[in-house]
Amino acid sequence: MASPTRDNPAAARTPRARQRRGEGQWALGYREPLNPNERSKKDDHPLNVRSRIENIYARGGFDSIDPGDLRGRFRWYGLYTQRKPGIDGGRTATLEPEELDDEYFMLRVRIDGGALTTEQLAVIGEISQTYARDTADITDRQNVQYHWIRIEDMPTIWEKLEGVGLTTMTACGDSPRVMLGSPVAGIAEDEVIDGTPALDEIKRRYLGKPEYANLPRKFKTAVSGLPDVAHEIHDVAFVGVVHPEHGPGFDVQVGGGLSTNPMIAQRLGAWVPLDEVPEVWEGVISIFRDYGYRRLRSRARLKFLVKDWGAEKFRDVLESEYLKRKLIDGPAPEAPAVQRDHVGVHKQKDGKFYVGAAPVGGRVSGSTLVKVAKAAERAGSNRVRLTPLQKLLVLDVAEEDVPGLQAELAELGLPTQPSPWRRGVMACTGIEFCKLAIVETKQRAKDLVTALEERLADIQDQVENPVSVHLNGCPNSCARIQTADIGLKGQIVTDDDGNQVEGFQVHLGGGLGLDAGFGRKLRGHKVTGDELVGYVERVVRNYLSQREEGER
Ligand code: SF4
Repeated sequence: MASPTRDNPAAARTPRARQRRGEGQWALGYREPLNPNERSKKDDHPLNVRSRIENIYARGGFDSIDPGDLRGRFRWYGLYTQRKPGIDGGRTATLEPEELDDEYFMLRVRIDGGALTTEQLAVIGEISQTYARDTADITDRQNVQYHWIRIEDMPTIWEKLEGVGLTTMTACGDSPRVMLGSPVAGIAEDEVIDGTPALDEIKRRYLGKPEYANLPRKFKTAVSGLPDVAHEIHDVAFVGVVHPEHGPGFDVQVGGGLSTNPMIAQRLGAWVPLDEVPEVWEGVISIFRDYGYRRLRSRARLKFLVKDWGAEKFRDVLESEYLKRKLIDGPAPEAPAVQRDHVGVHKQKDGKFYVGAAPVGGRVSGSTLVKVAKAAERAGSNRVRLTPLQKLLVLDVAEEDVPGLQAELAELGLPTQPSPWRRGVMACTGIEFCKLAIVETKQRAKDLVTALEERLADIQDQVENPVSVHLNGCPNSCARIQTADIGLKGQIVTDDDGNQVEGFQVHLGGGLGLDAGFGRKLRGHKVTGDELVGYVERVVRNYLSQREEGER
């Protein structure tokens, strides 16, 4: 497995560096940092910041934090400063970072595959109650995100999380972030293969290793035996597929991503068995580390390298320089016609049931999570999963316990038979806590759902599949603007009276699966926050009255 690139990338590639310059690739000899982020990572490996948090900052408080750690290396442990309250979105781009910084933090807990025991869920909830003012959001990356965290409390929070096998390590930063996995891995009647052992092994072998935690940019992974994790928009994705000769395994895809230059991942045309997934993952992340573009942050994601190289060259470099062997050619996985959100009651392959509930835009609370853990245990379950659509599942419920659990979840504001509007809405963090935000999202998502449930009650039964509405507080697309039926990108817009107000640019008709493609950005098509309900109502009514058979 050792390769010259991994052992000494600079030495191995120095001759080529003279031939081609420009993007800051380590493999071409660019070892000197070309921007401040690269400089910061070179000056001190970001994983080292934890000991400073524990030994210096937690004792000295917010004012003792070195700015380079505060706005850079803290991310490698899931910590971002949150937005100071009261700063409107129109000022986001005009203020210096320190003017936007609150002295409280957002903290992400990485939950690979969204898989939790009820004990872990209860601990996550209790930490929120004690240290995060009862905040807890389920993100579309199957993480839980807290707010109002004080640096003084971080050592205790880590102790509590690690006591139940959880971590915040590389939850953010230029590193391998939380890995998505099917929320119904191992239990779905129709899954091709259970990817959980591969996720576990990648974590065991590579997570927290410095050589995989200084990447050009973030690195997003999905491993799933079902196409239910938005694999098309990941840096690397392993998607379940049956090979005609070799049986169940994974199709490898690379170079997907959203944000301002959205790209669908490209298939390498290779089939990988379960036990080889970690090795291939290591090869892909190593290519990114060594050949990824480190000059401009805006071109540093793997998708830009994949776009320049193409899938064929990428596979060739992976095989020849990293794996030192050929991969097996494989077929494409079947694409689903609709995105599965797993909400409702579904039979597992062992005869038990899983029950999926829908918070609005992922917003829950620590208290709610503690109560969910207890309700699940009363229903005989000790396993919970979070989904990439910001939903929550309780697994392993006996048929006779399902109604009781459903009633308890509904009591907690987590209906298991929600309206299609509630099912279809996702929302990013938005202006309440995010420093990059221009508009508010979470409350708006809630108000939107309430209003649509009232105004569209007459046509609710005609909607076979939820119409997805994704609210994003800025162009960064954390809630996947481009993959929604109605994608909303937060920005300041001009209302009818000429006032500058919060609003959205609209993308229509995005989706993943069978017709993966990004919604059309309707230039000049903008709605104010106040007009949003009426706008979505009109789009849905027009769609339902004018659609052709089978049209999404
Ligand atoms: Fe923040 Fe923008 Fe991401 Fe929303 S989309 S969480 S506002 S960076």
